[in-house]
Parts: sequence; C-alpha cells; structure tokens
Amino acid sequence: MLTETVAAPADDSPVLRFVGRLLQDALAAGASDVHLASTAGGLQIRYRLDGVLLPMDSVDGRDFGARVIRRLKVLAELEPTVNGRPQDGRLELTQGERRIDARLSVLPSRHGEDAVLRILDRQGLLSSGRMNLAGLGLDAVATGAIRRLVQRPHGLLLVTGPAGSGTTTTLYGLLGEQPAGEDKLITLEDPVEAPLAGALQLAVGDSAGLGCAHALRAALRHDSDRLMVGDLRDTETARLVVQAALSGQRVYAGVHAGQAFDAIGRLITLGVDPYDLAAALNGVVAQRLLRRVCPHCAEDDQPTPEMLQASGLPKAVLEEGWTFRRGRGCDDCRGSGYLGRQAIAQTLTLDPELRGLIAERASPAMQRAAAERRGLITLRDAALELVCAGITTLEEANRVTAVQE
Ligand SMILES: [Zn+2]
Repeated sequence: MLTETVAAPADDSPVLRFVGRLLQDALAAGASDVHLASTAGGLQIRYRLDGVLLPMDSVDGRDFGARVIRRLKVLAELEPTVNGRPQDGRLELTQGERRIDARLSVLPSRHGEDAVLRILDRQGLLSSGRMNLAGLGLDAVATGAIRRLVQRPHGLLLVTGPAGSGTTTTLYGLLGEQPAGEDKLITLEDPVEAPLAGALQLAVGDSAGLGCAHALRAALRHDSDRLMVGDLRDTETARLVVQAALSGQRVYAGVHAGQAFDAIGRLITLGVDPYDLAAALNGVVAQRLLRRVCPHCAEDDQPTPEMLQASGLPKAVLEEGWTFRRGRGCDDCRGSGYLGRQAIAQTLTLDPELRGLIAERASPAMQRAAAERRGLITLRDAALELVCAGITTLEEANRVTAVQE
C-alpha cells in the first residue's frame, strides 16, 4: 500500500494537482465513491453522495483524462500502462491527521478506461464513540421495539436491507446497548468496520482468508455470550447461527433482503430448518436510509396531483396538514437539495402465531398479513412519515420504498 499526501503536492504537474484536488474535494464532500468515466471529450466525474450518484465537473481533453486515470493507477500500485484488462488496487488517502483507506477499480471502456474509487471511511461509525440505538436516529416507537428485542436473554435478531442501507451501523448500535466487558462478545465481519470496546472481532471472508462458518465454529468453542455476524450468506453459517441462538446465546446477524419476511424466506432458502428458525428467531429489523432535505436551502413545496396519485396518496393529504419541503440546491448540498441521511425501520417481533406460520412454511404473504393485523408498520409507512414532516421528499420516499409495499 502506498501512502500519498494529497493535500500539498510537491510536484506542480497539472495532473498531479488535479488528482490531489479531486481526492481532497471528494473527502470534504463525504463521497463514498468517485466515478471517473472516459468520454469522447475527456472525463465525466460523479460522486456518490448519500447513496446517489451526482455529476461533478467534467474534465476536457482525452489525453488529460487518460493521465488522470493513470495517476490513480500509480497511487493504487497498479500497472499504469496496462489498459486492456480490469485491475483492482488499494491506496491510502490523508485528510489532515486522518488516514483513509480507498479501493480503486479500473475497467476498460469504449473511450479508454473507467475508474471507481471507493472511499472506506470509518469516521461515521467512530465519531459518536460507542454507538447505541439512540444514535441511529430512528423514531421512538421503532427504537423502543428494537430495544425490547435486544433485551431478550437469548435468541436471534436479524437486521436486513439492501447493500448500503446501513445494516452494519445498526448491528453496532444493537451491540452498544449492552455495557462493554460484562460478557464475551465475538463479532464476525467482512471486513471489521470499526473497533468495538470489549469485543473479539474476527475478520472473515475471502480477503481475510478465514471462512465465516469456520470462524463461527471456533467462536462457539470460545465461550461466547453474544455473537454478531455481519452478513449471513452461506448455508453452514446460517445453520450455525440458528443453533447458537437455540443453545442460549444472543445472536445478532445481518442478511441482505428487502423486507422483514424476505429475510426469513432467505434463511429458509439457504437451508435453515423452518421449525428451528421459528424457535430461535426473536425478530427482524428491516431498514432503509433516506436522504434528508438540505436545511440550508429547504423551502415549502407542493407536489402536483399527478405526483400524489403516482405515490399512492389521496388528494386528502393536502388537507391533513402535510408539510412538504424540498431543497432548492445550494453549495452545502452541491446542488442536490439533500444533506445527510435518516434511517427508517420496520420491526417485526415474533409471537406464537407467527412462529407457527414460519414453522409450517406458510407463504410470506400469509405471514405478512398476520403481522399487519397486529399493526406491523411497513417501510413505506415509515418513509411517508418523514415526507409528512418535511424531513425528506416524496421523490426520495418513492426512490427508496415501492408504492405497493
Ligand atoms: Zn442545500
């Protein structure tokens, strides 16, 4: 890995200066990824901010653009002159005193090469020190429901959502509900996202060279009380997690799925026995992240009747005191109208009826109907609550949650 001080390039070459400025700007903006695409006229640059790609300034000149990508390849210790095949590398960026890991992926494209720089910034997880549920910004009802699940003495709690929906942050928040050092906590992560006080954290996965199931078996022999598994994706790990929960441990695990019931279906598809799962599972938290309206340029807004109809909202909401807000776009939000994100959650708590339905392999639709009769809130409802309060926009709610959820 190469350490490169990008703040003050000693060389005055325009390419070096440009790349240094670009990296500093991306860090300052809080971008998670920088996309550089070669075009007929140069380079198109976009940042992923709060989960969405936004166009930034483009670069004129194909030669200059190619040299920018070559410079990034040098920083990531790739072959700068090899252009015809995919390459992946790592580099370390510095911002003031901070060191930030980044990964570079380069692919050949129609006009040369495209590069994506993924910035692995753990500051978000670390900045609040020890995380807990209150730090997630969920509403009081969701926080209370999750806290009751966390306090069960044993069993499995699943956290689910698509990639990039903040499930890792929530898992850390769940772990933070218990005082550090009072019990043996082991985490299995790919990769370890942030240091947790009082925990034994194991890096699993291909890059770590330690299989998740292998690590989990070892952890179970290590007299653990609580286990956290970042991502359940293979049959053996899923079965071991359920067995650990049945044997009296508290287990928190992430699984990539859409809604709470999809996560249950996913484990059964992976080969977990439905009867065991029904006995082990305490609940499922499904979550999403929505972009917040930028406070610096927010103004009142009135969606069109067509927009309301397409969003499944009756005209009546207009008389119910909804406060629609929208960001005009300013320097603080880079013209997007959004700044920062807000989590929403659907919390499913298992009861005897639901356990029975899962054990009997009832369809997700039947399970869902039973839960909704008991007042299960959909992610759509949770998103519209934020729209109603002017925290996010209808467009953003429609982007993240489907109208028919
Ligand atoms: Zn703004």
